[in-house]
Amino acid sequence: MPNGGVVMSVLLGAREAKVQAFDLSGQPLSAAKRVETGRGGSAAILDSCLAAASSHLNSRDPIPVQLVATGVALDEDAPDLEWPEYFGGRPVVVDSALGAMATAEALSRTPRPQIMLFLDVGKTIDCAVLVHGRTLGVLRTSKGALGHTPVKGTSAKSTSVLACACGITNCLQSIAGEGAIIASLRSDAKDKPDAISDAVRRADAAAVSVLRQAGRHIGDTLLGSIALLRPELITVRTRWRGATDLLLIGLKEAVYAGGAPAVTENLVLASSRNRSAATGIALRAMDAGLAVEPVNRLLSAPPSLSGQRICWPAPRKSTDHQRAHLLTGRG
Ligand SMILES: [Zn+2]
Repeated sequence: MPNGGVVMSVLLGAREAKVQAFDLSGQPLSAAKRVETGRGGSAAILDSCLAAASSHLNSRDPIPVQLVATGVALDEDAPDLEWPEYFGGRPVVVDSALGAMATAEALSRTPRPQIMLFLDVGKTIDCAVLVHGRTLGVLRTSKGALGHTPVKGTSAKSTSVLACACGITNCLQSIAGEGAIIASLRSDAKDKPDAISDAVRRADAAAVSVLRQAGRHIGDTLLGSIALLRPELITVRTRWRGATDLLLIGLKEAVYAGGAPAVTENLVLASSRNRSAATGIALRAMDAGLAVEPVNRLLSAPPSLSGQRICWPAPRKSTDHQRAHLLTGRG
């Protein structure tokens, strides 16, 4: 129920955010609302997002609701900002969109994996590592890092030397990313808007072969990480309809043939089936907002102001002035 508390999820891109409110069972209360975020820092962005979420909820539910936490998922092109630990006195959780998707994926699986990798293969190749519900590493500053791993070893010997913008040669994504896969297609198929999906739909032999090979390269590159982290699950997401299964065939060949049986015998490789960054970041934020200390703060907060729809415990940041306008509806 909304009046049991809401979690606000913010998917932030270069110039706009998609804002959505979730109830405490993780269900969306509304469709995502677009908010322009071209100017201002993180506090201004959060205030704009709150205004959108608040007006949306207030228009449909007269019962005051309590904000429990805010989750911010950063898309690849999101501005690099400092995010506050708290917004309106409630916790803020920030992660990459990929990390948020990994969370949604992990929480949709039974049994729930404790350690998993979430691979994203497109123009760039990236991987979120989820360990006990938290993403590992500073993914926000290492966009596409996995894709810039040099490919070495037997399976790369037949590949000519490919320079990458990162400054090294034979990066994984220059060999197994979208550009390399399209380059291997028939000349009349390369220029189609969705060339890879189109080739897969036609069962193009070259596309089938190169996708499997791309999967092998990615699998070979991951072997060391798999041995180190011992994930129970690796899921794969591609932007190309129908192509994930072909990529997975090559990935499985490389991982199961190349990895030690003791490491891979319980490892599941599968295509991603839940990639909602909004749900993932909302669930992560909820987890933070319902921890003991934030709940104690919430329970000890002063009563609602008259006319207030979204309730705020003791706002304390520099945007208090703007927030007061939201709470009272006065300009
Ligand atoms: Zn590179």
